[in-house]
Amino acid sequence: MFGDGSVLDLPLGDRGGQQDAWTDLAGEQVAKQWAALVDGYGETWQILRKTSLEPPIQDRLPLKTVRSLKPWQSLEKVAERQLSDDRARAVLRHFAAQGGSDAKLTPGYVGVWSYLERTFGRWTIEGGFGALSDALVQRASERKINVRTGAEVVQVSIERHRATGVVLADGSEIPTRAVVTAIDPKRTLTTLLDPVEIGPHLRWRATNIRTPGSVAKVDLALSGLPSFDGADPERLAGRIVIAPSIDHLERAFDASKYGGVSDDPYLEATIPTLSDPTLAPEGTHVMSVVAQWTPFELRETGWGAERERLGDLVVKALERYAPGLSNMVTARRVTTPVDLESEYGLSGGHVYHGEPGLDQFFVWRPLLGHARYRLGLPGLYLCGSGAHPGGGVTGAPGANAAREILGDLRRRS
Ligand SMILES: Cc1cc2nc3c(=O)[nH]c(=O)nc-3n(C[C@H](O)[C@H](O)[C@H](O)COP(=O)(O)OP(=O)(O)OC[C@H]3O[C@@H](n4cnc5c(N)ncnc54)[C@H](O)[C@@H]3O)c2cc1C
Repeated sequence: MFGDGSVLDLPLGDRGGQQDAWTDLAGEQVAKQWAALVDGYGETWQILRKTSLEPPIQDRLPLKTVRSLKPWQSLEKVAERQLSDDRARAVLRHFAAQGGSDAKLTPGYVGVWSYLERTFGRWTIEGGFGALSDALVQRASERKINVRTGAEVVQVSIERHRATGVVLADGSEIPTRAVVTAIDPKRTLTTLLDPVEIGPHLRWRATNIRTPGSVAKVDLALSGLPSFDGADPERLAGRIVIAPSIDHLERAFDASKYGGVSDDPYLEATIPTLSDPTLAPEGTHVMSVVAQWTPFELRETGWGAERERLGDLVVKALERYAPGLSNMVTARRVTTPVDLESEYGLSGGHVYHGEPGLDQFFVWRPLLGHARYRLGLPGLYLCGSGAHPGGGVTGAPGANAAREILGDLRRRS
């Protein structure tokens, strides 16, 4: 829903459906512009697919690839040049916002998400993301693999300049042929490894990995299903984006640049109980709201004081579009970027283990010279969001890392 009250119901996985939706909202010309833009991202996807899913990534990107991706062109510029309607521009720009960045600072190729969503759709996991972990654990146990959780690693063991195992917080040591970490690269390199072994230069470079977390989450337990103005209930099973206009997006991002949180934050809400009613007692719902541009470091105050204020602010912002929602809230939990660091071990509270800026992407992820999943020492590998091609629940960095690790182990045996 846009600030002017108009509503776009953009179907995923459906080119014709998208064209119809844009025609209904903004006319044929805008519909054609949108279709042409998204079609163009098809070529971008072919390039990104190869560089992201068919390793090894080369130490230098071929000039042809760089020229095609045009990383110097921002998403804002692409939106301005190729779309004449502000609502269409806002929809494109939200692909920057959902990664916690601003369209002015985000390369235009990030709009490739529009192509992926139009071609493949979007998916969620019944039972929530935890169900995916459970499925993986079950599969592992069928293969006689032990999975231990709640076991904090405090050190990587090293012998003759090779990673040989891990030491846990309880003092026990697990020896292994390969140490594979999904802990973010900054934390891995600066806290788990002996600085003498990795040397001052790599350690210094690791401290400079940018991790400016800016995502907070507000979970709400609701006594009923809220009703959003202008949106029929089936629409609520998708992602509810509160970003009424481009000015709104810019103001919300601007506040975060100066260490504050906008009174009108950019929100993405989902109601998981609409696709999986088992998550809450019958008739009640849970709502999960991601608030972007909530900086890890607040300039004037701290998250201890601001946590509940953010919760209030989010509920108030939702109330504007779903009158009566605040009276339905029976419980609330606010997770700030500081909590993401202290509870989940994410440096700077950055959900992607490092900003996916141009200088921390492709061959620069996590650091130039370490993009092929080997990290700092023989026998140590990086397999999570901090590795190429970055964050999100895609499995891509893990699959790429696994290929490299298996290759190394075969060569050694
Ligand atoms: C609010 C929010 C909403 C999101 N929404 C989406 C979405 O809709 N779609 C999507 O694709 N992605 C989403 N993401 C991003 C997604 O969750 C991450 O990209 C993904 O979890 C990354 O997986 P990972 O395995 O690389 O790292 P993580 O999931 O960060 O896992 C790293 C693990 O290492 C553990 N750890 C850290 N230090 C230690 C230590 N010393 N010893 C042992 N363990 C340690 C951490 O506790 C953590 O469990 C969202 C993230 C957040 C925070």
